[in-house]
Amino acid sequence: MLYLSTRGHPERKRFCEILLEGLAPDGGLYLPEAYPQVDGETLARWRRVLADEGYAALAFEVLSLYIDDIPADDLRALCRKTYTAEVFGTKEIVPLKRLEEGVYLEALSNGPTLAFKDMAMQLLGNLFEYELGRRGEQLNILGATSGDTGSAAEYAMRGKQGVRVFMLSPHGRMSPFQQAQMFSLQDANIHNIAVEGVFDDCQDIVKAVSNDLAFKRQYKIGTVNSINWARLLAQVVYYFAGYFQATTSNDQTVSFCVPSGNFGNVCAGHVARQMGLPIDRLIVATNENDVLDEFFRTGTYRVRGSADTYETSSPSMDISKASNFERFVFDLLGRDAGRTRALFGEQLAREGRFDLGSEPVFAEASARYGFVSGKSTHADRLMTIKDTWERFGTMIDTHTADGVKVARERRRAGEVVVVLETALPIKFADTIREALDREPDRPARFVGIEDLPKRVQVMAPDVAAVQRYIADHCRD
Ligand SMILES: *Cc1c(COP(=O)(O)O)cnc(C)c1O
Repeated sequence: MLYLSTRGHPERKRFCEILLEGLAPDGGLYLPEAYPQVDGETLARWRRVLADEGYAALAFEVLSLYIDDIPADDLRALCRKTYTAEVFGTKEIVPLKRLEEGVYLEALSNGPTLAFKDMAMQLLGNLFEYELGRRGEQLNILGATSGDTGSAAEYAMRGKQGVRVFMLSPHGRMSPFQQAQMFSLQDANIHNIAVEGVFDDCQDIVKAVSNDLAFKRQYKIGTVNSINWARLLAQVVYYFAGYFQATTSNDQTVSFCVPSGNFGNVCAGHVARQMGLPIDRLIVATNENDVLDEFFRTGTYRVRGSADTYETSSPSMDISKASNFERFVFDLLGRDAGRTRALFGEQLAREGRFDLGSEPVFAEASARYGFVSGKSTHADRLMTIKDTWERFGTMIDTHTADGVKVARERRRAGEVVVVLETALPIKFADTIREALDREPDRPARFVGIEDLPKRVQVMAPDVAAVQRYIADHCRD
């Protein structure tokens, strides 16, 4: 299996070469040269694998189609070590729960940080440790977070050999629960840096450090952001697991509704569908930041400025552009890399938008690739959380509520829609109180975490100071 860049760079790479990288050298995103096809016989076998041997065994089956530079026994061991009931809360790992007729929730957020990002990040932690160990190398992961991604990265990398994490967050701006989650980690390889500024200041520092190529090389700086192919690949597995749980035979179809921000999660659904999983439709749910809904309705992809990017009560979907979207557009354009480069590398940089609405190919987004979309607002979120609680006794978080709202709106008679549950309500307690006038449920292992000792360095928004801090802490 070889990987190419969506912008046409001639080089082809293997999985472990792109594992530790972000963008391709030409600024494109990595994709496999072709999606491996899963025939009826294989699907039937995988259904039995999930039932008899569990999620880790299914993960091995899917991943081994894309990873041929890790010996099979090692890859199987990495999957087993990652997807355990101990880490993900249940033997099923991603159990399915029925709401009303034709609407299911697939639980993806019972990992260490209570958001679906753990599903991929926990595997990434084990893959990184394995590959760095094999190479005898080290990696210093530098990132900026306003919540979910940073904590998922830290819980995935804590205690791992060869890896350190330097995570910048805006001082005093995360919720007390999120701060406690990150800052209570006492592992020597995890470094929390609270920057006196806003999230954009943190991101600017990360960019400045990454653009200092000499520093980047000397201190082996890397990232784990959402465009990483291994993260996306890990997410493909739970589409198969959700499908098998929602059906009894492989001639049935299922649709998925996905609360979306950077288009990573739903892009994994697109990959599963391209492999031959019988997915009917992929329903993209956005919040008030409706970049993606606008595209699937009109064909116009319009990146937002910071003034048009709203702070909402489903904050992990507050995006101004969808960083994985280029992967889907590349497929939509018949894998025309020149065209993809012209749109994403040139027109978007110049004009902040492109429009495929008048091109025949745009109709294929829904007709051939199954995409539809919808949007949810704060008022929708409150109503959906309340209704789901009152009718089913199920408490859902704000992001999942966006998914449930759009699923109900878009569902056709007879259609089975699986909504991906992307976080637990405890992470967004303020909105739960507003919707239900009660405290969200708190899993036992999080009782009292706000009172634990905190390990965090507060710093001015100063690139040189952050670089000094990294240099000083790369020796231990
Ligand atoms: C990251 C995140 C999303 C958005 O997922 P994408 O892969 O960026 O589309 C949705 N909900 C929650 C809770 C998240 O953490």
